[in-house]
Amino acid sequence: MKRTNSETHTFDYVIVGSGPAGCVLANRLSEDPAVSVLLLEAGGSDRSLTIQMPAAVPFAYMDAKLGWGYQAGPEPHLGGRWIDEKRGRVLGGSSSINAMIFNRGNPMDFDGWADRGLAGWAWKDCLPYFKKMEAFAEGPSDWRGGSGPLQISRCKADFPLHHQFLRAGEQAGFSVTPDHNGQKQEGFHVAQAYIHQGLRSSASRAYLSPVQDRPNLRVRSGVAVQKISFQGARATGVIATHHGTEVSFTARREVVLCAGAFGSPQLLMLSGIGDPDHLREHGIAVRAPLRAVGMNLENHPGVNLQYVTETKHSMVSQLGPAGRVRLALEWALMRKGLGASNFFETGAFLRTKHDVAFPNMQFEFLPLVRYIENGKLKARPGFNFWMDLSRPASRGRVRLCSADPATAPSIVFNHLAEPADLEDLVDGVELGRNIVKQAALASVTKAELLPGEYVRTRCDLRRWVAANLGTSYHPSGTCRIGTGENSVVDLQGRVHGLDGLRIVDGSILPSTVTANISAAIYMVAEKIADEMRGHTIQASKAVRP
Ligand SMILES: Cc1cc2nc3c(=O)[nH]c(=O)nc-3n(C[C@H](O)[C@H](O)[C@H](O)COP(=O)(O)OP(=O)(O)OC[C@H]3O[C@@H](n4cnc5c(N)ncnc54)[C@H](O)[C@@H]3O)c2cc1C
Repeated sequence: MKRTNSETHTFDYVIVGSGPAGCVLANRLSEDPAVSVLLLEAGGSDRSLTIQMPAAVPFAYMDAKLGWGYQAGPEPHLGGRWIDEKRGRVLGGSSSINAMIFNRGNPMDFDGWADRGLAGWAWKDCLPYFKKMEAFAEGPSDWRGGSGPLQISRCKADFPLHHQFLRAGEQAGFSVTPDHNGQKQEGFHVAQAYIHQGLRSSASRAYLSPVQDRPNLRVRSGVAVQKISFQGARATGVIATHHGTEVSFTARREVVLCAGAFGSPQLLMLSGIGDPDHLREHGIAVRAPLRAVGMNLENHPGVNLQYVTETKHSMVSQLGPAGRVRLALEWALMRKGLGASNFFETGAFLRTKHDVAFPNMQFEFLPLVRYIENGKLKARPGFNFWMDLSRPASRGRVRLCSADPATAPSIVFNHLAEPADLEDLVDGVELGRNIVKQAALASVTKAELLPGEYVRTRCDLRRWVAANLGTSYHPSGTCRIGTGENSVVDLQGRVHGLDGLRIVDGSILPSTVTANISAAIYMVAEKIADEMRGHTIQASKAVRP
Protein backbone atom coordinates (compact mmCIF):
# COMPACT_ATOMS: atom_id res chain seq x y z
CA MET A 1 0.00 0.00 0.00
CA LYS A 2 1.22 3.53 -0.82
CA ARG A 3 1.75 5.90 2.11
CA THR A 4 1.31 9.66 2.44
CA ASN A 5 2.89 12.16 4.80
CA SER A 6 0.83 12.52 7.99
CA GLU A 7 2.23 16.01 8.87
CA THR A 8 -0.11 17.69 6.39
CA HIS A 9 -3.19 16.21 8.03
CA THR A 10 -3.38 17.75 11.49
CA PHE A 11 -6.61 19.01 13.05
CA ASP A 12 -7.83 19.73 16.59
CA TYR A 13 -10.61 17.14 16.30
CA VAL A 14 -10.73 14.13 13.99
CA ILE A 15 -14.28 12.74 13.79
CA VAL A 16 -14.84 9.29 12.29
CA GLY A 17 -18.26 8.72 10.66
CA SER A 18 -20.80 11.17 9.26
CA GLY A 19 -24.06 9.72 10.60
CA PRO A 20 -26.35 11.76 12.85
CA ALA A 21 -23.78 11.95 15.66
CA GLY A 22 -20.79 12.78 13.44
CA CYS A 23 -22.64 15.54 11.59
CA VAL A 24 -23.85 17.16 14.84
CA LEU A 25 -20.32 17.17 16.27
CA ALA A 26 -18.73 18.47 13.06
CA ASN A 27 -21.20 21.34 13.00
CA ARG A 28 -21.16 22.26 16.68
CA LEU A 29 -17.39 21.94 17.28
CA SER A 30 -16.59 24.02 14.19
CA GLU A 31 -18.86 26.83 15.44
CA ASP A 32 -15.68 27.92 17.25
CA PRO A 33 -13.51 29.43 14.49
CA ALA A 34 -10.39 28.85 16.58
CA VAL A 35 -10.86 25.08 16.37
CA SER A 36 -10.14 22.93 13.28
CA VAL A 37 -12.33 19.89 12.62
CA LEU A 38 -11.95 16.99 10.21
CA LEU A 39 -14.91 14.69 9.49
CA LEU A 40 -14.00 11.37 7.83
CA GLU A 41 -16.59 9.15 6.12
CA ALA A 42 -15.98 5.76 4.50
CA GLY A 43 -18.90 6.15 2.07
CA GLY A 44 -19.45 8.61 -0.74
CA SER A 45 -21.69 11.49 -1.71
CA ASP A 46 -25.37 11.62 -0.71
CA ARG A 47 -26.39 13.50 -3.86
CA SER A 48 -28.84 10.97 -5.20
CA LEU A 49 -32.52 11.06 -6.05
CA THR A 50 -33.28 7.93 -4.03
CA ILE A 51 -31.83 9.58 -0.93
CA GLN A 52 -33.56 12.92 -1.41
CA MET A 53 -37.03 11.69 -2.40
CA PRO A 54 -38.86 10.44 0.72
CA ALA A 55 -41.03 7.94 -1.20
CA ALA A 56 -37.88 6.28 -2.60
CA VAL A 57 -36.78 5.10 0.84
CA PRO A 58 -36.92 1.33 0.05
CA PHE A 59 -34.67 1.93 -2.96
CA ALA A 60 -32.21 3.84 -0.77
CA TYR A 61 -31.87 1.14 1.87
CA MET A 62 -31.82 -1.67 -0.72
CA ASP A 63 -29.02 0.01 -2.70
CA ALA A 64 -25.88 -2.04 -1.99
CA LYS A 65 -23.66 0.94 -2.96
CA LEU A 66 -25.07 2.96 -0.04
CA GLY A 67 -24.68 0.28 2.65
CA TRP A 68 -22.23 -1.91 4.54
CA GLY A 69 -24.00 -5.18 3.61
CA TYR A 70 -23.95 -6.56 7.16
CA GLN A 71 -25.61 -9.86 8.06
CA ALA A 72 -26.39 -10.56 11.73
CA GLY A 73 -26.26 -14.16 12.84
CA PRO A 74 -26.42 -17.02 13.07
CA GLU A 75 -29.18 -16.12 15.56
CA PRO A 76 -29.26 -18.93 18.14
CA HIS A 77 -32.90 -18.43 19.13
CA LEU A 78 -34.18 -17.99 15.58
CA GLY A 79 -33.15 -21.40 14.29
CA GLY A 80 -29.69 -20.19 13.25
CA ARG A 81 -31.13 -17.68 10.78
CA TRP A 82 -29.22 -14.67 9.42
CA ILE A 83 -30.75 -11.20 9.45
CA ASP A 84 -30.02 -8.63 6.77
CA GLU A 85 -28.91 -5.63 8.86
CA LYS A 86 -28.80 -2.42 6.82
CA ARG A 87 -26.36 0.41 7.70
CA GLY A 88 -25.69 3.53 5.68
CA ARG A 89 -22.20 3.89 4.19
CA VAL A 90 -22.62 7.36 2.71
CA LEU A 91 -22.54 10.98 3.86
CA GLY A 92 -25.25 11.26 6.50
CA GLY A 93 -24.74 7.62 7.50
CA SER A 94 -27.93 5.68 8.14
CA SER A 95 -29.91 8.94 8.23
CA SER A 96 -29.47 9.03 4.44
CA ILE A 97 -31.16 5.64 3.94
CA ASN A 98 -33.52 5.39 6.91
CA ALA A 99 -37.32 5.61 6.97
CA MET A 100 -37.28 9.22 8.30
CA ILE A 101 -39.72 8.49 11.16
CA PHE A 102 -39.19 11.01 13.96
CA ASN A 103 -39.87 9.78 17.50
CA ARG A 104 -38.04 11.02 20.56
CA GLY A 105 -38.79 8.20 22.97
CA ASN A 106 -40.56 8.17 26.29
CA PRO A 107 -39.48 10.52 29.14
CA MET A 108 -39.23 7.38 31.30
CA ASP A 109 -36.41 6.09 29.05
CA PHE A 110 -34.17 9.00 30.04
CA ASP A 111 -35.27 9.11 33.67
CA GLY A 112 -34.34 5.43 33.71
CA TRP A 113 -30.80 6.38 32.61
CA ALA A 114 -30.54 8.86 35.49
CA ASP A 115 -32.03 6.36 37.96
CA ARG A 116 -29.19 4.01 37.06
CA GLY A 117 -26.64 6.60 38.21
CA LEU A 118 -26.07 8.55 34.98
CA ALA A 119 -26.17 12.04 36.46
CA GLY A 120 -27.18 14.71 33.97
CA TRP A 121 -29.11 12.35 31.66
CA ALA A 122 -32.64 12.62 33.10
CA TRP A 123 -35.51 13.73 30.85
CA LYS A 124 -35.29 17.28 32.21
CA ASP A 125 -31.62 17.40 31.13
CA CYS A 126 -32.26 15.85 27.69
CA LEU A 127 -35.38 17.83 26.69
CA PRO A 128 -33.48 21.11 26.05
CA TYR A 129 -31.30 19.26 23.52
CA PHE A 130 -34.27 17.58 21.83
CA LYS A 131 -35.56 21.14 21.40
CA LYS A 132 -32.23 22.53 20.27
CA MET A 133 -31.84 20.02 17.44
CA GLU A 134 -35.22 20.56 15.75
CA ALA A 135 -37.29 23.09 13.87
CA PHE A 136 -40.75 21.62 14.31
CA ALA A 137 -43.01 22.82 11.50
CA GLU A 138 -45.74 23.73 14.00
CA GLY A 139 -43.45 26.04 15.93
CA PRO A 140 -41.79 26.12 19.33
CA SER A 141 -43.45 25.35 22.66
CA ASP A 142 -42.43 24.12 26.12
CA TRP A 143 -42.02 20.72 24.50
CA ARG A 144 -40.85 21.45 20.97
CA GLY A 145 -38.01 23.36 19.31
CA GLY A 146 -38.53 25.94 16.60
CA SER A 147 -35.14 26.89 15.22
CA GLY A 148 -32.81 23.86 15.20
CA PRO A 149 -31.11 22.40 12.12
CA LEU A 150 -33.40 19.35 11.68
CA GLN A 151 -36.68 20.16 9.98
CA ILE A 152 -39.45 18.00 11.42
CA SER A 153 -42.94 17.96 9.89
CA ARG A 154 -46.20 16.25 10.71
CA CYS A 155 -47.26 13.78 8.00
CA LYS A 156 -50.43 14.54 6.05
CA ALA A 157 -51.99 11.12 6.61
CA ASP A 158 -54.83 12.10 4.29
CA PHE A 159 -55.31 8.70 2.67
CA PRO A 160 -58.54 7.24 4.14
CA LEU A 161 -56.88 4.04 5.40
CA HIS A 162 -54.78 6.11 7.82
CA HIS A 163 -57.97 7.51 9.36
CA GLN A 164 -59.40 4.02 9.58
CA PHE A 165 -56.29 2.87 11.47
CA LEU A 166 -56.65 5.75 13.96
CA ARG A 167 -60.42 5.14 14.37
CA ALA A 168 -59.81 1.42 14.90
CA GLY A 169 -57.41 2.38 17.70
CA GLU A 170 -60.08 4.45 19.37
CA GLN A 171 -62.62 1.68 18.92
CA ALA A 172 -60.19 -0.69 20.65
CA GLY A 173 -60.12 1.68 23.65
CA PHE A 174 -56.95 3.72 22.97
CA SER A 175 -56.70 7.46 22.51
CA VAL A 176 -55.19 9.45 19.65
CA THR A 177 -52.47 11.65 21.11
CA PRO A 178 -52.08 15.13 19.60
CA ASP A 179 -48.25 15.12 19.74
CA HIS A 180 -46.51 11.87 20.67
CA ASN A 181 -43.22 13.81 20.77
CA GLY A 182 -44.72 16.30 23.20
CA GLN A 183 -46.66 15.87 26.36
CA LYS A 184 -48.03 12.37 25.80
CA GLN A 185 -46.36 9.61 23.81
CA GLU A 186 -48.77 6.77 24.46
CA GLY A 187 -51.65 6.08 22.08
CA PHE A 188 -52.26 6.32 18.33
CA HIS A 189 -50.80 9.22 16.37
CA VAL A 190 -50.29 10.92 13.05
CA ALA A 191 -46.57 10.39 12.46
CA GLN A 192 -43.84 13.04 12.26
CA ALA A 193 -40.94 12.83 9.88
CA TYR A 194 -37.50 14.18 9.04
CA ILE A 195 -38.97 15.68 5.86
CA HIS A 196 -38.90 19.34 4.82
CA GLN A 197 -40.41 20.84 1.70
CA GLY A 198 -40.69 17.39 0.19
CA LEU A 199 -37.05 16.42 0.81
CA ARG A 200 -35.34 14.10 3.31
CA SER A 201 -33.90 16.11 6.19
CA SER A 202 -30.82 13.91 6.75
CA ALA A 203 -27.96 14.58 9.13
CA SER A 204 -25.71 15.86 6.37
CA ARG A 205 -28.41 18.03 4.84
CA ALA A 206 -29.34 19.52 8.21
CA TYR A 207 -25.94 19.85 9.87
CA LEU A 208 -23.28 19.85 7.11
CA SER A 209 -24.77 21.64 4.08
CA PRO A 210 -25.39 24.95 5.87
CA VAL A 211 -21.79 25.11 7.17
CA GLN A 212 -19.88 23.67 4.22
CA ASP A 213 -18.03 26.96 3.66
CA ARG A 214 -16.55 27.16 7.16
CA PRO A 215 -12.77 27.36 6.65
CA ASN A 216 -12.12 25.38 9.85
CA LEU A 217 -14.27 22.35 8.84
CA ARG A 218 -13.05 19.74 6.37
CA VAL A 219 -15.31 16.86 5.29
CA ARG A 220 -13.66 13.95 3.46
CA SER A 221 -15.69 11.11 2.04
CA GLY A 222 -14.30 7.83 0.74
CA VAL A 223 -11.88 7.59 3.69
CA ALA A 224 -12.19 4.32 5.63
CA VAL A 225 -10.53 4.48 9.05
CA GLN A 226 -8.60 1.30 9.93
CA LYS A 227 -7.47 2.04 13.46
CA ILE A 228 -6.65 4.67 16.04
CA SER A 229 -3.04 5.69 16.62
CA PHE A 230 -1.68 6.24 20.13
CA GLN A 231 1.25 7.62 22.06
CA GLY A 232 1.06 5.71 25.33
CA ALA A 233 -2.51 6.02 26.60
CA ARG A 234 -3.26 9.06 24.46
CA ALA A 235 -5.07 8.80 21.11
CA THR A 236 -3.19 10.96 18.63
CA GLY A 237 -5.01 10.33 15.37
CA VAL A 238 -6.23 7.68 12.95
CA ILE A 239 -4.86 5.55 10.14
CA ALA A 240 -7.17 5.19 7.16
CA THR A 241 -7.31 4.21 3.49
CA HIS A 242 -8.41 6.41 0.62
CA HIS A 243 -8.57 4.83 -2.85
CA GLY A 244 -6.14 2.13 -1.75
CA THR A 245 -3.62 4.57 -0.27
CA GLU A 246 -2.84 4.58 3.43
CA VAL A 247 -3.24 7.99 4.95
CA SER A 248 -2.93 9.17 8.56
CA PHE A 249 -4.52 12.10 10.33
CA THR A 250 -3.38 13.68 13.57
CA ALA A 251 -5.70 15.01 16.26
CA ARG A 252 -4.27 17.71 18.53
CA ARG A 253 -7.16 17.46 20.96
CA GLU A 254 -9.31 14.38 20.38
CA VAL A 255 -10.28 11.53 18.10
CA VAL A 256 -14.08 11.19 18.22
CA LEU A 257 -15.57 7.93 16.99
CA CYS A 258 -19.05 8.34 15.47
CA ALA A 259 -18.90 5.17 13.38
CA GLY A 260 -22.15 3.72 14.75
CA ALA A 261 -23.07 0.74 16.92
CA PHE A 262 -21.09 -1.71 14.75
CA GLY A 263 -18.29 0.52 13.45
CA SER A 264 -17.20 2.09 16.74
CA PRO A 265 -16.68 -1.15 18.71
CA GLN A 266 -14.96 -2.67 15.67
CA LEU A 267 -12.50 0.25 15.51
CA LEU A 268 -11.83 0.02 19.25
CA MET A 269 -11.08 -3.70 19.01
CA LEU A 270 -8.86 -3.23 15.95
CA SER A 271 -6.95 -0.67 18.05
CA GLY A 272 -6.43 -3.03 20.99
CA ILE A 273 -9.32 -1.85 23.18
CA GLY A 274 -11.67 -4.61 24.28
CA ASP A 275 -11.86 -8.02 25.90
CA PRO A 276 -8.22 -9.17 26.16
CA ASP A 277 -9.04 -12.83 25.41
CA HIS A 278 -10.95 -11.91 22.28
CA LEU A 279 -8.23 -9.50 21.08
CA ARG A 280 -5.54 -12.17 21.57
CA GLU A 281 -7.61 -14.64 19.49
CA HIS A 282 -6.98 -12.25 16.59
CA GLY A 283 -3.35 -11.50 17.45
CA ILE A 284 -4.10 -7.91 18.49
CA ALA A 285 -1.95 -6.42 21.28
CA VAL A 286 -4.06 -5.25 24.22
CA ARG A 287 -3.96 -1.50 24.87
CA ALA A 288 -6.96 -1.21 27.22
CA PRO A 289 -8.77 -4.24 28.66
CA LEU A 290 -12.37 -3.06 28.39
CA ARG A 291 -14.55 -6.17 28.39
CA ALA A 292 -17.79 -4.31 27.65
CA VAL A 293 -16.63 -3.29 24.15
CA GLY A 294 -19.09 -4.87 21.69
CA MET A 295 -21.30 -6.26 24.46
CA ASN A 296 -24.83 -5.17 25.51
CA LEU A 297 -26.03 -4.95 21.89
CA GLU A 298 -29.69 -3.93 21.82
CA ASN A 299 -32.09 -3.70 18.89
CA HIS A 300 -35.83 -3.47 18.36
CA PRO A 301 -37.01 -6.85 17.03
CA GLY A 302 -40.33 -6.94 15.23
CA VAL A 303 -42.69 -8.54 12.74
CA ASN A 304 -44.94 -7.40 9.90
CA LEU A 305 -48.68 -8.00 10.18
CA GLN A 306 -50.32 -7.88 6.74
CA TYR A 307 -53.94 -7.75 5.59
CA VAL A 308 -55.64 -7.86 2.18
CA THR A 309 -58.14 -5.22 1.06
CA GLU A 310 -59.75 -4.38 -2.23
CA THR A 311 -57.44 -2.29 -4.41
CA LYS A 312 -59.60 0.84 -4.02
CA HIS A 313 -59.10 0.85 -0.23
CA SER A 314 -55.31 0.52 -0.37
CA MET A 315 -52.71 3.05 -1.41
CA VAL A 316 -51.75 0.63 -4.17
CA SER A 317 -54.67 2.23 -6.02
CA GLN A 318 -52.55 5.41 -6.26
CA LEU A 319 -49.46 3.61 -7.56
CA GLY A 320 -50.51 2.21 -10.93
CA PRO A 321 -48.65 3.40 -14.06
CA ALA A 322 -50.55 6.73 -14.20
CA GLY A 323 -50.19 7.20 -10.42
CA ARG A 324 -46.45 6.66 -10.59
CA VAL A 325 -46.08 9.24 -13.36
CA ARG A 326 -48.13 11.71 -11.28
CA LEU A 327 -46.00 10.94 -8.21
CA ALA A 328 -42.79 11.62 -10.14
CA LEU A 329 -44.06 14.81 -11.79
CA GLU A 330 -45.61 16.33 -8.65
CA TRP A 331 -42.43 15.69 -6.73
CA ALA A 332 -40.05 16.82 -9.48
CA LEU A 333 -41.96 20.03 -10.19
CA MET A 334 -43.34 20.98 -6.78
CA ARG A 335 -41.76 18.66 -4.16
CA LYS A 336 -45.32 17.63 -3.31
CA GLY A 337 -47.65 14.64 -3.52
CA LEU A 338 -46.90 11.03 -2.64
CA GLY A 339 -43.23 11.43 -3.60
CA ALA A 340 -42.83 13.75 -0.60
CA SER A 341 -44.07 11.08 1.83
CA ASN A 342 -42.29 8.14 3.47
CA PHE A 343 -45.75 6.41 3.55
CA PHE A 344 -45.42 5.69 7.32
CA GLU A 345 -47.91 8.41 8.16
CA THR A 346 -49.62 6.95 11.23
CA GLY A 347 -48.49 4.81 14.14
CA ALA A 348 -49.01 3.93 17.78
CA PHE A 349 -47.14 3.39 21.04
CA LEU A 350 -49.16 0.90 23.08
CA ARG A 351 -48.94 -1.22 26.20
CA THR A 352 -49.70 -4.91 25.73
CA LYS A 353 -50.00 -5.48 29.48
CA HIS A 354 -50.84 -3.51 32.60
CA ASP A 355 -47.66 -4.20 34.55
CA VAL A 356 -45.41 -2.04 32.35
CA ALA A 357 -45.16 1.69 32.98
CA PHE A 358 -44.30 2.63 29.37
CA PRO A 359 -45.67 1.61 25.96
CA ASN A 360 -43.80 -1.62 25.30
CA MET A 361 -44.94 -2.02 21.67
CA GLN A 362 -44.63 0.31 18.67
CA PHE A 363 -46.77 0.05 15.52
CA GLU A 364 -45.93 1.72 12.18
CA PHE A 365 -48.81 1.66 9.74
CA LEU A 366 -48.45 1.39 5.95
CA PRO A 367 -51.59 1.67 3.80
CA LEU A 368 -50.32 -1.00 1.37
CA VAL A 369 -48.49 -4.32 1.50
CA ARG A 370 -44.86 -4.33 0.37
CA TYR A 371 -42.88 -7.43 -0.44
CA ILE A 372 -39.77 -8.44 -2.32
CA GLU A 373 -40.00 -10.82 -5.28
CA ASN A 374 -36.85 -11.91 -7.11
CA GLY A 375 -34.99 -9.02 -5.49
CA LYS A 376 -37.57 -6.48 -6.72
CA LEU A 377 -39.82 -4.38 -4.51
CA LYS A 378 -43.51 -4.99 -5.17
CA ALA A 379 -46.77 -3.80 -3.61
CA ARG A 380 -50.18 -5.40 -3.33
CA PRO A 381 -53.62 -4.17 -2.14
CA GLY A 382 -53.93 -4.19 1.62
CA PHE A 383 -52.25 -2.71 4.66
CA ASN A 384 -49.29 -3.59 6.81
CA PHE A 385 -48.09 -2.75 10.25
CA TRP A 386 -44.57 -3.22 11.44
CA MET A 387 -44.78 -3.98 15.14
CA ASP A 388 -41.69 -3.97 17.34
CA LEU A 389 -40.76 -4.45 20.96
CA SER A 390 -39.69 -1.17 22.56
CA ARG A 391 -37.40 -2.39 25.32
CA PRO A 392 -36.41 -6.02 24.78
CA ALA A 393 -34.59 -7.89 27.54
CA SER A 394 -32.32 -9.89 25.19
CA ARG A 395 -28.79 -8.63 24.53
CA GLY A 396 -26.37 -9.50 21.77
CA ARG A 397 -22.79 -8.63 20.87
CA VAL A 398 -20.41 -7.42 18.16
CA ARG A 399 -17.03 -9.11 17.83
CA LEU A 400 -14.24 -9.21 15.32
CA CYS A 401 -14.22 -11.87 12.61
CA SER A 402 -10.69 -10.90 11.73
CA ALA A 403 -7.96 -8.36 12.50
CA ASP A 404 -8.40 -7.13 8.91
CA PRO A 405 -10.39 -3.86 9.06
CA ALA A 406 -11.99 -4.67 5.70
CA THR A 407 -13.70 -7.77 7.11
CA ALA A 408 -17.19 -7.13 8.50
CA PRO A 409 -17.59 -7.73 12.22
CA SER A 410 -19.60 -10.66 13.58
CA ILE A 411 -22.99 -9.41 14.81
CA VAL A 412 -25.33 -11.57 16.88
CA PHE A 413 -28.45 -9.89 18.26
CA ASN A 414 -29.50 -12.90 20.33
CA HIS A 415 -33.12 -11.95 19.70
CA LEU A 416 -35.60 -13.91 21.84
CA ALA A 417 -32.86 -15.18 24.15
CA GLU A 418 -35.09 -13.94 26.97
CA PRO A 419 -38.43 -15.80 26.89
CA ALA A 420 -40.27 -12.63 28.02
CA ASP A 421 -39.46 -10.97 24.67
CA LEU A 422 -41.23 -13.74 22.76
CA GLU A 423 -44.28 -13.60 25.05
CA ASP A 424 -44.48 -9.81 24.66
CA LEU A 425 -44.29 -10.07 20.87
CA VAL A 426 -47.03 -12.70 20.83
CA ASP A 427 -49.14 -10.35 23.00
CA GLY A 428 -48.39 -7.63 20.46
CA VAL A 429 -49.64 -9.77 17.55
CA GLU A 430 -52.83 -10.50 19.50
CA LEU A 431 -53.24 -6.77 20.17
CA GLY A 432 -52.68 -6.02 16.48
CA ARG A 433 -55.32 -8.57 15.50
CA ASN A 434 -57.73 -7.00 17.96
CA ILE A 435 -57.21 -3.58 16.35
CA VAL A 436 -57.88 -5.03 12.89
CA LYS A 437 -61.11 -6.59 14.21
CA GLN A 438 -62.51 -3.16 15.09
CA ALA A 439 -65.24 -1.87 12.78
CA ALA A 440 -63.15 0.86 11.15
CA LEU A 441 -60.61 -1.64 9.76
CA ALA A 442 -62.80 -4.76 9.67
CA SER A 443 -65.05 -3.00 7.14
CA VAL A 444 -62.21 -2.98 4.56
CA THR A 445 -60.25 -6.11 5.52
CA LYS A 446 -60.73 -9.16 3.30
CA ALA A 447 -58.20 -11.55 4.80
CA GLU A 448 -55.13 -11.82 6.99
CA LEU A 449 -51.95 -12.50 5.03
CA LEU A 450 -49.51 -12.48 7.97
CA PRO A 451 -49.49 -14.24 10.37
CA GLY A 452 -52.32 -15.91 8.38
CA GLU A 453 -55.59 -17.29 9.62
CA TYR A 454 -54.10 -20.76 10.10
CA VAL A 455 -51.80 -19.41 12.83
CA ARG A 456 -54.23 -19.50 15.74
CA THR A 457 -52.98 -20.72 19.10
CA ARG A 458 -50.37 -19.03 21.27
CA CYS A 459 -48.10 -21.94 20.53
CA ASP A 460 -48.54 -21.35 16.75
CA LEU A 461 -47.86 -17.66 17.27
CA ARG A 462 -44.63 -18.29 19.15
CA ARG A 463 -43.34 -20.38 16.26
CA TRP A 464 -44.53 -17.85 13.70
CA VAL A 465 -42.86 -14.94 15.52
CA ALA A 466 -39.55 -16.82 15.80
CA ALA A 467 -39.69 -17.76 12.12
CA ASN A 468 -40.55 -14.25 10.91
CA LEU A 469 -38.79 -11.95 13.37
CA GLY A 470 -36.86 -9.13 11.73
CA THR A 471 -34.98 -5.98 12.67
CA SER A 472 -35.95 -2.32 12.97
CA TYR A 473 -32.28 -1.43 12.27
CA HIS A 474 -31.84 0.21 15.69
CA PRO A 475 -28.61 -1.26 17.12
CA SER A 476 -27.20 0.43 20.22
CA GLY A 477 -25.32 -0.11 23.48
CA THR A 478 -22.07 -1.70 22.25
CA CYS A 479 -19.83 0.98 23.85
CA ARG A 480 -22.28 2.08 26.46
CA ILE A 481 -22.07 5.03 28.83
CA GLY A 482 -21.58 4.20 32.48
CA THR A 483 -19.28 4.12 35.41
CA GLY A 484 -18.79 0.44 36.13
CA GLU A 485 -17.09 -2.50 34.42
CA ASN A 486 -20.02 -3.09 32.11
CA SER A 487 -19.49 0.25 30.36
CA VAL A 488 -16.97 1.67 27.89
CA VAL A 489 -17.29 5.46 28.11
CA ASP A 490 -17.96 7.98 30.86
CA LEU A 491 -20.91 10.37 31.05
CA GLN A 492 -19.41 12.58 28.34
CA GLY A 493 -18.41 9.78 25.98
CA ARG A 494 -14.70 9.61 26.97
CA VAL A 495 -13.27 6.08 26.74
CA HIS A 496 -12.39 4.74 30.20
CA GLY A 497 -8.68 4.70 31.00
CA LEU A 498 -7.49 6.48 27.83
CA ASP A 499 -6.95 10.12 26.86
CA GLY A 500 -7.99 11.99 23.75
CA LEU A 501 -10.55 9.39 22.67
CA ARG A 502 -14.30 9.84 22.77
CA ILE A 503 -17.25 7.96 21.29
CA VAL A 504 -20.50 9.68 20.41
CA ASP A 505 -23.11 7.68 18.48
CA GLY A 506 -25.76 4.97 18.93
CA SER A 507 -23.18 2.67 20.50
CA ILE A 508 -23.05 4.70 23.72
CA LEU A 509 -26.77 4.65 24.55
CA PRO A 510 -26.95 3.18 28.07
CA SER A 511 -30.19 1.41 27.10
CA THR A 512 -32.44 1.70 24.12
CA VAL A 513 -35.42 4.05 23.92
CA THR A 514 -39.12 3.53 23.28
CA ALA A 515 -38.88 4.82 19.70
CA ASN A 516 -36.91 4.70 16.45
CA ILE A 517 -33.62 5.71 17.94
CA SER A 518 -32.07 8.39 15.74
CA ALA A 519 -33.69 11.33 17.58
CA ALA A 520 -32.11 10.12 20.83
CA ILE A 521 -28.72 9.87 19.07
CA TYR A 522 -28.97 13.45 17.74
CA MET A 523 -29.90 14.57 21.26
CA VAL A 524 -26.95 12.75 22.86
CA ALA A 525 -24.57 14.27 20.28
CA GLU A 526 -25.96 17.80 20.80
CA LYS A 527 -25.56 17.45 24.57
CA ILE A 528 -22.01 16.07 24.48
CA ALA A 529 -20.94 18.64 21.85
CA ASP A 530 -22.15 21.37 24.20
CA GLU A 531 -20.26 19.86 27.11
CA MET A 532 -17.10 19.58 25.00
CA ARG A 533 -17.37 23.33 24.37
CA GLY A 534 -17.87 24.02 28.08
CA HIS A 535 -21.55 24.91 27.74
CA THR A 536 -24.74 23.41 29.14
CA ILE A 537 -28.37 24.37 28.71
CA GLN A 538 -30.31 24.60 31.95
CA ALA A 539 -32.53 21.62 32.69
CA SER A 540 -36.08 22.05 31.49
CA LYS A 541 -38.99 22.79 33.80
CA ALA A 542 -41.52 21.12 31.52
CA VAL A 543 -40.37 17.76 32.73
CA ARG A 544 -43.39 15.55 32.92
CA PRO A 545 -46.76 15.08 31.31
C1 LIG B 1 -33.08 0.96 6.86
C2 LIG B 1 -33.08 1.80 8.13
C3 LIG B 1 -34.25 2.43 8.54
C4 LIG B 1 -34.24 3.20 9.70
N1 LIG B 1 -35.35 3.96 10.00
C5 LIG B 1 -35.29 4.85 11.00
C6 LIG B 1 -36.34 5.78 11.21
O1 LIG B 1 -37.31 5.83 10.45
N2 LIG B 1 -36.24 6.65 12.25
C7 LIG B 1 -35.17 6.64 13.09
O2 LIG B 1 -35.15 7.41 14.06
N3 LIG B 1 -34.15 5.77 12.92
C8 LIG B 1 -34.17 4.91 11.87
N4 LIG B 1 -33.10 4.10 11.62
C9 LIG B 1 -31.95 4.12 12.56
C10 LIG B 1 -31.07 5.37 12.42
O3 LIG B 1 -30.86 5.73 11.09
C11 LIG B 1 -29.74 5.09 13.12
O4 LIG B 1 -30.02 4.70 14.45
C12 LIG B 1 -28.83 6.29 13.14
O5 LIG B 1 -28.54 6.74 11.85
C13 LIG B 1 -27.53 5.91 13.84
O6 LIG B 1 -26.71 7.04 13.90
P1 LIG B 1 -25.16 6.92 14.23
O7 LIG B 1 -24.59 8.29 14.10
O8 LIG B 1 -25.00 6.19 15.51
O9 LIG B 1 -24.56 5.93 13.13
P2 LIG B 1 -24.75 5.77 11.56
O10 LIG B 1 -25.92 6.52 11.06
O11 LIG B 1 -24.70 4.31 11.26
O12 LIG B 1 -23.45 6.46 10.97
C14 LIG B 1 -22.16 5.93 11.11
C15 LIG B 1 -21.31 6.46 9.97
O13 LIG B 1 -19.96 6.09 10.19
C16 LIG B 1 -19.39 5.63 8.97
N5 LIG B 1 -18.31 4.72 9.31
C17 LIG B 1 -18.41 3.53 9.96
N6 LIG B 1 -17.19 2.97 10.08
C18 LIG B 1 -16.31 3.82 9.51
C19 LIG B 1 -14.91 3.80 9.30
N7 LIG B 1 -14.15 2.78 9.72
N8 LIG B 1 -14.32 4.85 8.66
C20 LIG B 1 -15.05 5.91 8.23
N9 LIG B 1 -16.40 5.97 8.39
C21 LIG B 1 -17.01 4.94 9.01
C22 LIG B 1 -20.56 4.95 8.26
O14 LIG B 1 -20.34 4.82 6.88
C23 LIG B 1 -21.71 5.89 8.60
O15 LIG B 1 -21.80 6.94 7.67
C24 LIG B 1 -33.07 3.30 10.49
C25 LIG B 1 -31.89 2.67 10.08
C26 LIG B 1 -31.89 1.94 8.90
C27 LIG B 1 -30.60 1.29 8.46
